[in-house]
Amino acid sequence: MKASIYFLFFLYSTLLSILLLAASPTVHFPPATPVSATATIQIEKSERLENLYIMYNALYFRRKLPKISVVFGPAKDNGEENVGLTYSCGNYLCIEINPELNPTHAEQAATLLHEMIHVKLWGNEKIRRSHGSLFRAELHRLMFEGAFDDLL
Ligand SMILES: [Zn+2]
Repeated sequence: MKASIYFLFFLYSTLLSILLLAASPTVHFPPATPVSATATIQIEKSERLENLYIMYNALYFRRKLPKISVVFGPAKDNGEENVGLTYSCGNYLCIEINPELNPTHAEQAATLLHEMIHVKLWGNEKIRRSHGSLFRAELHRLMFEGAFDDLL
């Protein structure tokens, strides 16, 4: 008699767990490797940002920065996407702005200004990509001159 009570209890708990599992909402687990939302960004020239570069060069860099190319793209460096990236492309420099990580024009402009500091420091191979004291001094100068006033 005792054994059948245990059996009934076992049956009851098994049925209960089956019912609970069936009633629980479907859980969608994220894919093991997240699908990059930016996998589709194409490299595309931006005339708007090139004109902005020319304007910022005149306003904040005394037109000392070289003529360069500004493109939209994933701004990949060592396989990782960045908000922006400056690099040599042939005999000149390219600034690549990631449109998905800078969805607004203001963010794109702020990233452009950041990359323009790298352009200014490009001549010095040791610090061209660093965000050290020289970079920060330039950043503070731009802030002080109001470059970011309408952007932040
Ligand atoms: Zn940087």
